[in-house]
Amino acid sequence: MILQGIAASPGLAVGPVHRLEIEELSVHEREVAPSDAGAELAAFAGAVESARRELSGIRDGIGAELGPDEAAIYDAHLLILDDPELRKKVERGVREQHRNAAWVFRSAMAAFAAAFEKLEDEYLRERQADILDVERRVLRHLLGSDTRRMEELKTPSIIVAHDLGPSEVASLPKDRVLAFVTEVGGRTSHGAIVARGRGIPAVVSVRGATQQVAQGMCVVVDGAAGTLELEPDAERLSVYDTRFARQKARREATRAVQDQPAVTLDGKAIELGANLELPEEAGEALAAGAESIGLFRTEFFYLNRIDLPGEEEQYRAYARVCETFAGRPVLFRSMDLGGDKVASYLGVTHETNPFLGLRGIRLALTSPDMFRTQLRAIHRAAAHGRARLMFPMVSSVDELERALALRDEVLAELAREGCAHDPNVETGIMIETPSAVWMAGELAKRSAFFSIGSNDLTQYTLAMDRDNERLAGLYEPLDPAILRSIDHAARAAHAAGRWVGVCGEMAGDPHTAVLLVGLGVDEMSMSAFDLPRVKAAVRSIRHEAARAIAQQALAMPSAAHVRALVREQIDAMLPSHLAYERLQ
Ligand code: PEP
Ligand code: MG
Repeated sequence: MILQGIAASPGLAVGPVHRLEIEELSVHEREVAPSDAGAELAAFAGAVESARRELSGIRDGIGAELGPDEAAIYDAHLLILDDPELRKKVERGVREQHRNAAWVFRSAMAAFAAAFEKLEDEYLRERQADILDVERRVLRHLLGSDTRRMEELKTPSIIVAHDLGPSEVASLPKDRVLAFVTEVGGRTSHGAIVARGRGIPAVVSVRGATQQVAQGMCVVVDGAAGTLELEPDAERLSVYDTRFARQKARREATRAVQDQPAVTLDGKAIELGANLELPEEAGEALAAGAESIGLFRTEFFYLNRIDLPGEEEQYRAYARVCETFAGRPVLFRSMDLGGDKVASYLGVTHETNPFLGLRGIRLALTSPDMFRTQLRAIHRAAAHGRARLMFPMVSSVDELERALALRDEVLAELAREGCAHDPNVETGIMIETPSAVWMAGELAKRSAFFSIGSNDLTQYTLAMDRDNERLAGLYEPLDPAILRSIDHAARAAHAAGRWVGVCGEMAGDPHTAVLLVGLGVDEMSMSAFDLPRVKAAVRSIRHEAARAIAQQALAMPSAAHVRALVREQIDAMLPSHLAYERLQ
């Protein structure tokens, strides 16, 4: 049986299924030595405290939004959390029975929930769900972000889960994860983006996948076709062998241009950079032929941990990337937290629309100390190479001015301290919101460059959640509304003498990359995996021809028309090993 999903990260993988249950918080019983009991209880108290902060935030948010009745449920959660009996049980379990806190806590909560099971009153019986919720919240903090533990994963396997968050994908053990499949998500969900960055094949939005597979079942994931095949027979496996060989040959054909410059046939040079999620991927980006890092998603540094990264830690990691790139530009995007990238230690407040909430530069400006620390680390690291800085999700001139003012304060501070740094880091912004497109002229006066985040620009312009698998067929970066936005921003940048790049997923597709070149972009940044193919595309076209196609595309009434144009005209311009794959 073949299940169809959305192609999220290319590559073929065959192997046994490892199912990750929803919110499976594996708690293993462990002995705790009396000398460690204090630390174990302190960790538990910390987890309870973090859960309390989270719950209070949610309660206040809901209270302000919907009123006290709706918020009351969270008061009940807080009451459960603060139950002194529960605390005593955990303390006794750790000190007297020498068991680990997570284990004792889970047993106590199970007993608590069981008592509710017997109640006559249906409403009260349903409160079991609240107990479970509180239990998970505390355990999530106690066990760290790696809650869906991979320790049972002994042999290389294919992960099948309802959902995998971006931080979870970032921490998948690459030696044991051949590919993954999820039931939700879209191509530009951050989980998918991280998978591409790490070279892990992935298919998302496969309906009912977790129900269809059994633990250990042999499956094939085709990340380019977006399929999950269950229990393939020998004949089917040989089809995949052929496909695998073909993909390998294509990759080798593009590898030939890896070290060549990205210049069109009529001499227009395009800077091709790589997107980076984790500092340790920098070497791979360089090997793939990247001239620069065009987007370092630094927020991943803030995920998968229990506290804020300090200045020294960030400085060292950023400096290493600058050193790896030895004088080639490394573009640090300041932390784009919020949306689907949540650092729970910041105290999460419930937001009805997180992508429209406290995200990106907005969040950074509300946490000036955290932002300042990062800006210091980036400017210090810049002394080890050539750095660029950009602010994400800017939606007004005011935000940019506030961010720049903070940057100036940091520079003055570093100079005062006599701390080695680069005071001339080129600083620009992402164009991701319709307001930034419309204000591009004003923004260009205040920033050194623009980098268009087509993933968010599509989401916000078309008012379509990039993570919603039900909108995957409609979420369309080739919509003329998006192309016109890019055109408008590029013209504004050029009029002010600035360069303009694209670092969203559009840049990683050879066909749409040609369209972007036609729209006048000077730089494109993508996953290292996609880079050689895009370079081969740039080298096989004439800039003038791309411009003519882009002009036609801008005048089209719909994305379907643009796709037809791309299929007819751009496909014909590209070498056969870049044949039309992704666009359909
Ligand atoms: C984008 O929105 O296109 C982008 C590059 O940023 P991110 O995908 O990290 O939101
Ligand atoms: Mg974005």
